[in-house]
Amino acid sequence: MKEGFDRLLKYQNLELHQLETTRNLNGIPNERETLEKKLASEKEVLEQALQGLRGLELRQKETEGDRGEAEATVNRLRGQLLEVKKNDQYQAMLQEIESFQKKISSLEELEIEILMEIDEEKEKVKVDEREFRDREQEIRGQMDLLVDRKVQLEDSLKELEGTLSDSKAEVSSEWLDAYARVKNQVRKGPWVVQLQGTRCAGCHLSVSSEVAHNFGASAGINYCDQCGRILYRG
Ligand SMILES: [Zn+2]
Repeated sequence: MKEGFDRLLKYQNLELHQLETTRNLNGIPNERETLEKKLASEKEVLEQALQGLRGLELRQKETEGDRGEAEATVNRLRGQLLEVKKNDQYQAMLQEIESFQKKISSLEELEIEILMEIDEEKEKVKVDEREFRDREQEIRGQMDLLVDRKVQLEDSLKELEGTLSDSKAEVSSEWLDAYARVKNQVRKGPWVVQLQGTRCAGCHLSVSSEVAHNFGASAGINYCDQCGRILYRG
């Protein structure tokens, strides 16, 4: 291997590490948003269960109100019954009272049904609430971890700045210039790659037989003639 080439490789590795760290850091807001959405949808599930319960409770109150009204009507009709003189009127009123009483007993049955449904729903909501609390704790824990990770990534980026400039200072200008040129041409790193047999580890294509044959013979830098990356033999 050419003199000082290992320093360029070390520099590249640091730079790739910096890119990866920056990418991870930039991804944190997205990860946070995903967690927030997850929490919101868990909350929505619980909210729907609670709404179902509130709906039942409202229906129960309405039924109770209807029954109260029917009972008041029966009481009023019974009072009026005492003042009725004519037999047919009396009979008609009795029938009316009877129909209200039937209504009352069916409302009572309905109330019992609703109360039973409410009990069932309350049990379900309890389970949902417990599950939600567990999930919420878990998600909030993940959010806290993200905050820690952000600090860690920022710290390691700061540290990398110093290491990178130290490492860059150790690389010869010839190598640095070649590296910068390749970086301009090739979007995706690594830019210094191994030649594995006749295959470039960067673009995975075979280099021309000329490049493969002359590798290491010339004093200059060897490039992949497919993608332009700098080549070395491991
Ligand atoms: Zn290549």
